[in-house]
Amino acid sequence: MELLSPAGNLQKLKYAISFGANAVYTAGKDFGLRAKSENLSKAELEKAVEFCHKKNKKIYVTVNIFAHNSDLEKLPSYLKFLQKINVDAIIVSDPAVFLTARENAPELPIHISTQANVISWKSAEFWKMQGAKRIILARELTFSEIKDIREKIPDIELEMFIHGSMCVSYSGRCFLSSFLNARSANSGYCTQPCRWEYQLIEKSRPNEFFRIEEDKYGSYILNSKDLCLINRLPEINKIGIDSVKIEGRMKSLYYVANVTRIYKEALQDAGSDISSQKMKIFNDELNKISHRHYTEAFFDKFDSTATQYYDSSTYIRDYQFIGEIVKTKNNSVFISSRAKFQLGDEIEFIFPNRKEDFLWKVNNIFNDEGIPISSTKPNTVVKIEPDQKIPSHGIIRKKISDK
Ligand code: SF4
Repeated sequence: MELLSPAGNLQKLKYAISFGANAVYTAGKDFGLRAKSENLSKAELEKAVEFCHKKNKKIYVTVNIFAHNSDLEKLPSYLKFLQKINVDAIIVSDPAVFLTARENAPELPIHISTQANVISWKSAEFWKMQGAKRIILARELTFSEIKDIREKIPDIELEMFIHGSMCVSYSGRCFLSSFLNARSANSGYCTQPCRWEYQLIEKSRPNEFFRIEEDKYGSYILNSKDLCLINRLPEINKIGIDSVKIEGRMKSLYYVANVTRIYKEALQDAGSDISSQKMKIFNDELNKISHRHYTEAFFDKFDSTATQYYDSSTYIRDYQFIGEIVKTKNNSVFISSRAKFQLGDEIEFIFPNRKEDFLWKVNNIFNDEGIPISSTKPNTVVKIEPDQKIPSHGIIRKKISDK
């Protein structure tokens, strides 16, 4: 199975590839959802394609907005550009975009976005008949439904989400953000109002807030947990899914790198049962990224109450991403610092190969002039000299909670 990782910008794309992704998905500045993600300029897209192909990896570009008439004007030239630079596929949800791609960039393979809500084999057959190469299945399917689609339509590629944020609504059918904030989720501007804390006010008492409670729970009535199917990979592997996808183009490069390497390792083992000891390590690592409570969502049965978390929408964050290694020279390690660390802290280096990770108690830090300092400032480059040689490409994190 292909492991497909998110690439919100060029740097995250490079981390996704070097930490084990077989393919990445990204977006240009226009026409891809996740407008708040940085996304790639045309020049960056060209560089990204060149980078991926040199490494023998694939790159897919999202063009999955639901287009209004005015969006259609610039679309043909953008699609021709994507075809010219040889992206491996575009990700599309709107039939208008699909047709425009067929007419203007017929060589471009098309993947049907999860936004198109393919939830039955007949819908998959429909898109196959239109010439789609791959279906990205809706997240709202059970495993047995996915298996059924695979068996009934064997000759189209199937992709499914295995990790990341979920929506309380079917993707592509939510108007909460448009309605409450005039920012359309279907144009890439979702402000996630499903995760806000709602309270009740009575018209004549505008400053009094009444808590909305559902029996013993709080008021986050629309807040979904995060998907995590690491424990189910062996089952997924058996039914002939072509690609498994990690959500998160807006997440940090630490998230992209760590989730990618853990699923990569799990996929290498997924041909047989993964030992419980190994599974524990994988789960522990996935708990070290910022996340909401995890769920296997609809994998076993369609039970929407199991996917919601009513108490809070805040992230669980036990570790902090504090920097990335930008260069090593002999035993010196140059770090681009993202958050403060100081003498005496225990920091952890993580690498594409998990077995190379190591923990170090900071006993020296130097600024860019080689002068010893006691702590780092974010967005500066510092040098450290740990007592061992380490790989030149890695990420540094620090534990911030005692759990
Ligand atoms: S408001 Fe929530 S449910 Fe709706 S599209 Fe945004 S994230 Fe998804």
